[in-house]
Amino acid sequence: MKNLNKFIILTGPSGVGKGTVIKELLDKYKNIWLSISATTRAPRNGEKEGENYYFLSEKRFKEMIEKNLFLEWAQFAGNYYGTPLSSVNAKIEDGYIVLLEIEVEGAKQVKCRYPEAISIFLLPPSHEELERRIRGRGTEKEESINKRLIRSSYEIEKSKEFDFSVVNHNVDETTKKIIKIINP
Ligand code: 5GP
Repeated sequence: MKNLNKFIILTGPSGVGKGTVIKELLDKYKNIWLSISATTRAPRNGEKEGENYYFLSEKRFKEMIEKNLFLEWAQFAGNYYGTPLSSVNAKIEDGYIVLLEIEVEGAKQVKCRYPEAISIFLLPPSHEELERRIRGRGTEKEESINKRLIRSSYEIEKSKEFDFSVVNHNVDETTKKIIKIINP
């Protein structure tokens, strides 16, 4: 892979607001490309195949692991998630700033493989606010909310290992800070 200074990892606990910030970045900068991950979790209402995720069976996901077709992969809240290598390579070759929105274990794998990648962790203003946001989103069942909230403490602890951390008080301010870091 070349042009790795334009390889960005964005991580943060479920509900912190990664999706909203990313939407803002993609609207403003056409040279940023968001990698579409594969997952074994079921689609949420309104999510589309190939747009939000590639929704795979566990069998297919494991075949892809065996064939080394992922840049990274991890388990999160009972499901598998991974970044398909082929499309990322193609977009880097095309000169895009490639953005990976992934959880902490995957971020660690990418950083290990490509230390030049810039890693950014999005923090919530507080645990209470994170819970309020994840519940307010209304996309998860109680069991999934609990798994995600339990996981968030571990993830926030890991934020120290990232190149940058940004507290997401509001989208505008956070987007400006990330743009300063990425310099698109
Ligand atoms: P969700 O189910 O809420 O869409 O995603 C759950 C978590 O999986 C989020 O923290 C998200 O960043 C992470 N995630 C999404 N795609 C990937 C991926 O390709 N690899 C890894 N390691 N994590 C991912």
